[in-house]
Amino acid sequence: MRPVKLAIVVPCYNEEQALPISARSLLDVLDRMSAAGLTSEDSYILCCNDGSRDKTWDVIEQLHVADSRVKGISLAHNRGHQYALLAGLTTVIDHCDAAVSIDADLQDDPEAIIEMVKEYNAGAEIVYGVRSSRETDTMFKRATAHAFYKFQNAMGLDTVYDHADYRLMSNRALTLLSHYGESNLFLRGIVPQIGLKTAIVTYSRASRVAGESKYPLSKMLSFSIDGITSFTARPIRFIFFLGLILLLLDIVVAIYVLISYFMHNYDAGWPSLMLSIWFLGSITLIAIGVVGEYISKIFTEVKGRPRFEIAEKIFD
Ligand code: UDP
Ligand code: MG
Repeated sequence: MRPVKLAIVVPCYNEEQALPISARSLLDVLDRMSAAGLTSEDSYILCCNDGSRDKTWDVIEQLHVADSRVKGISLAHNRGHQYALLAGLTTVIDHCDAAVSIDADLQDDPEAIIEMVKEYNAGAEIVYGVRSSRETDTMFKRATAHAFYKFQNAMGLDTVYDHADYRLMSNRALTLLSHYGESNLFLRGIVPQIGLKTAIVTYSRASRVAGESKYPLSKMLSFSIDGITSFTARPIRFIFFLGLILLLLDIVVAIYVLISYFMHNYDAGWPSLMLSIWFLGSITLIAIGVVGEYISKIFTEVKGRPRFEIAEKIFD
């Protein structure tokens, strides 16, 4: 088997403390893989500085001087993890056979990269890193993260459970990814849509080597909402069906009101008020749902996602 030219893409935001440690671990993994003939000698690490306010970029430059396998790009602004990652992944297209994305804090076990490359050699084009345990995360982080996956799936967003953005993608998968031109980036939702052959590698999640989390609960929540609203119109359907259910309940309310009316058991104006409130309420919800369906269609069109990708061809 020919050694794989591997790119390891690392988004970095204010990671001056963690980066030297993680770069050393990643280089060590690369050394061992290349000694074992798994990866080529020109495999490399691409650090994507996401507009850090600390000395992250200086650290990247120093790391490059010490070992030219460490490369870097620097975004002009802080755009967030997903964008830093995409910047890195699109930079390495056609400059590698496969790329692994991993956080700078080593929470995702770098040893799993070896298994990922083996899965790639076995034919997988996308290999998801899935956490087998979260013992080192706080109870709160664990509970909120699980609630986050469950909620998303209930809302109709198809993601891989307990997989964040630690994954290997073949050069072909990266090229297909680059066809998604959307601005609201939620890679965990897009990558499963790419298709191709996938595999899973499990690892246990460690705590940060240095520095602190850049993902507080507020960011996680807005990230979750972003994911749902970028991938599914199910919340709008809920509104529509709620309207339908209320319309059905209208019948019950109408019967109750009419009985009260005929039994002369009501205050003046109450029957007409009750009937109109229920009827108008449900009609309003249904109308919002219908309008929403059209808006969701516009939203899908605007994103201009690829409608299909051809994986194999026997055609000439
Ligand atoms: N990160 C980034 N831009 C940001 C926030 C985070 O590039 O605006 C990077 C960060 O440097 C790290 C990764 O994204 O490599 C994940 O962030 P973090 O570890 O803080 O998130 P957590 O693991 O706590 O969810
Ligand atoms: Mg982290």
